[in-house]
Amino acid sequence: MTAQGTAFGVVLSGVVGELVRVEADVADGLPGVTIVGLPDTSVSESRQRIKVAIERLDLAWPNRRLTIGLSPAELRKHGSGLDLPMAMAVLAATDQLGGASLGSTAFIGELGLDGRLLVPRGALASALAARRAGLGRVVVPSAAAEQLCRLTGIEVVVADDLATVVAVVVGSRPPVLAGTAPTSGVPEAEGPDLRDVRGHAQGRLALEVAAAGGHHVAFVGSPGVGKTLLADRLAGILPDLDDEAALDVASVHSVAGSPRPDALYRRPPAQSPHHSASAAALLGAVHGVHVAPGAATLAHRGVLVLDEAAELSRPAIEGLRQPLESGWISLARSAWRGRLPARFQLVLAANPCPCGRRTGSGIGCTCPSTAIRRYAAKLSGPLLDRIDIRLELARPTDAELATGAEGESSVAVRDRVRAAQERGAHRRAGTPWRSNAQVPTGVLRRRWRPDAEGAELLASIERGSANLRGPDRVLRMAWTVADLAGRDVPGYDDVALAMSLRGASLPWAA
Ligand SMILES: [Zn+2]
Repeated sequence: MTAQGTAFGVVLSGVVGELVRVEADVADGLPGVTIVGLPDTSVSESRQRIKVAIERLDLAWPNRRLTIGLSPAELRKHGSGLDLPMAMAVLAATDQLGGASLGSTAFIGELGLDGRLLVPRGALASALAARRAGLGRVVVPSAAAEQLCRLTGIEVVVADDLATVVAVVVGSRPPVLAGTAPTSGVPEAEGPDLRDVRGHAQGRLALEVAAAGGHHVAFVGSPGVGKTLLADRLAGILPDLDDEAALDVASVHSVAGSPRPDALYRRPPAQSPHHSASAAALLGAVHGVHVAPGAATLAHRGVLVLDEAAELSRPAIEGLRQPLESGWISLARSAWRGRLPARFQLVLAANPCPCGRRTGSGIGCTCPSTAIRRYAAKLSGPLLDRIDIRLELARPTDAELATGAEGESSVAVRDRVRAAQERGAHRRAGTPWRSNAQVPTGVLRRRWRPDAEGAELLASIERGSANLRGPDRVLRMAWTVADLAGRDVPGYDDVALAMSLRGASLPWAA
């Protein structure tokens, strides 16, 4: 005689959850537990935890042959997040849930030996997987409530322990919903503010154009001129994330083990890895079957700041080429292959040469020309080619520093950025491009030309430019400048201003 029970759980694959069907099958025969369907040792170890937790509830552990099947079969199952659905499937198979149906619920949680529920990594990513699969309810540990309290489209039930889950399922206790669980109420932290930046009119403008058009930025200048000061302030002038983006970001961070406290945490993330960071720290790594997202993925839908970018290792720099082109990072290791999201906006800061003094007239620079060429070449191919705004920064003048006046605040600039983005989005309606920076060159030239005077100025740089892509970048930025100014078509001034953000005097060709 056999009996079966089914429950749904979720395992992580990279930074997304995959729904897993857990089937417990109890049959006559020698007592023993077999788990089939690519479980790793951590899943196999949950046998003991589940047995102890069930017996502590004064429920019965089947003293017969128990087989737990996990599907889809080809998906690797790892971690202890399947404890709870396995326990529920066993209880269903042994008819201890009063015949309750588990078919539209996903169970997410690790089991302590005392039956307490612990939050597995990626609780939000797991809940999103259940929602994507069309399930109506997800049961999670109470400690995950704050991460999941704003999730809509699926009922989020929280529970402290296995006893509560069983009581809710059989209907002897009303479910507690995450949305009604108390939250910390801590206001969202704002990053560094533009208000603190004195002078640097051109640098501030570069940030505003970058934010409005989604353009990557490079700041080049001697040590101490304020490159980092500016770079750290791009995220603060980006508009709030919308619902879908906020969930996407929170989901990624829940997998990385740094869950944002609230699924609708609105501020775009910012990451500033040190220049000594390894390629793995920057791009992600696979440890066994665990995928550890790198800074580029944690900056997804936000900003990646690379200070002293030329000091990064060559593999790190080369590895950034793929996410800059596609918004994804492919990882292929023996235990896991797949891709991680990494659509970030890049702000890079670099010295103009190894000694750092080759700015303006270049007096004082002691670097041999070969060293400068090598230095510039390191960033040129993989990174600089994809960066629209390249600005050489000079130290603010004494007069600028002496005024004592505060700069405009990040919140004020953010309002203009939002308006410009909306203007651009209106123009691009019905196209797949979400920012001016994404519009391909050919489309730009066919559909979105500047006015006659702007076109003439653009043609003049085309004639004088060795770099064929330079004028296209200027046109792309000119659209953003026009969006910020509220103009329908870029004119002479917009093209000229865009040109000024290309830093032609840099040691490496613009
Ligand atoms: Zn130098």
